[in-house]
Amino acid sequence: MPELPELEVVKDFLVEHLVGQRIEKVEVLRPIVVRNLTDLDFTSLEGQAFTKVEHRGKFLIFSLDALYLVINPMLSGRLYLCPSTERRLAKTFVIWHLEDGFNLRYVDEKQMGKVYLTADLSLVPGFALQGPEALEVTFEAFKERLKRHRGEIKGVLVDQAFAAGIGNAYADEILFRAGVYPFKRRPGLTEGEIRRLYEAMRAVLEESISTIREQMGDQIHLKFRDFLAVHGKGGSPCPRCGTPISDVRARGRLTNFCRSCQPGIMIGHSRNLRG
Ligand SMILES: [Zn+2]
Repeated sequence: MPELPELEVVKDFLVEHLVGQRIEKVEVLRPIVVRNLTDLDFTSLEGQAFTKVEHRGKFLIFSLDALYLVINPMLSGRLYLCPSTERRLAKTFVIWHLEDGFNLRYVDEKQMGKVYLTADLSLVPGFALQGPEALEVTFEAFKERLKRHRGEIKGVLVDQAFAAGIGNAYADEILFRAGVYPFKRRPGLTEGEIRRLYEAMRAVLEESISTIREQMGDQIHLKFRDFLAVHGKGGSPCPRCGTPISDVRARGRLTNFCRSCQPGIMIGHSRNLRG
């Protein structure tokens, strides 16, 4: 679930609260999410200090004195920063006890995410394959990179090798903002549509970062998605024209869009849930 806008805000919050702090103790309550890519014990993080927190695409990267802790929350992983006395949520997998008495906790409702310990970021699955950060791509590079793909535009936007950080939710928002049919194949896009997609990508991501920053505060484990225009809004009126938003399950993911604002015809199998 967390995509570039959420991770950007969470990252800034964690930079402020973690950098310079030492880990006193590590508790791995459920090892199933942990992937140790070193020959050291996971508890070798004890005594090390956080020197940097960054995000790259959908990964959060914590630099410690000698190792990296990398978190790929996937659909359900969340981080939680709280006093160590606070009750543990049921699906708490890993706890890092910090020297200021707080805990950084990894909570994962569906245990889909991963927590990696590594000395080399390129060993983390999927990390090295990522394209440039979606907010760092120039229009020229965006246009050039699109040429490598021939599939449907939604599939291109969520492909981390095309640009890193966009997932199912923000791809729907970008396509809606640009007025582009999600299942249109890349070779059929006009010059104008490519320009609109690029501008929509920047605008949607930047505006979402500011909105989430205002709403999230220190509640970094909660989801803030109510402000989205179409994603998760199947059946509700389109904010632009009032047509009910369509819910389409296709290519293994749910897509929300407006059939009036984003007209097109789907080729191949799909199951319409609504609209
Ligand atoms: Zn509409």
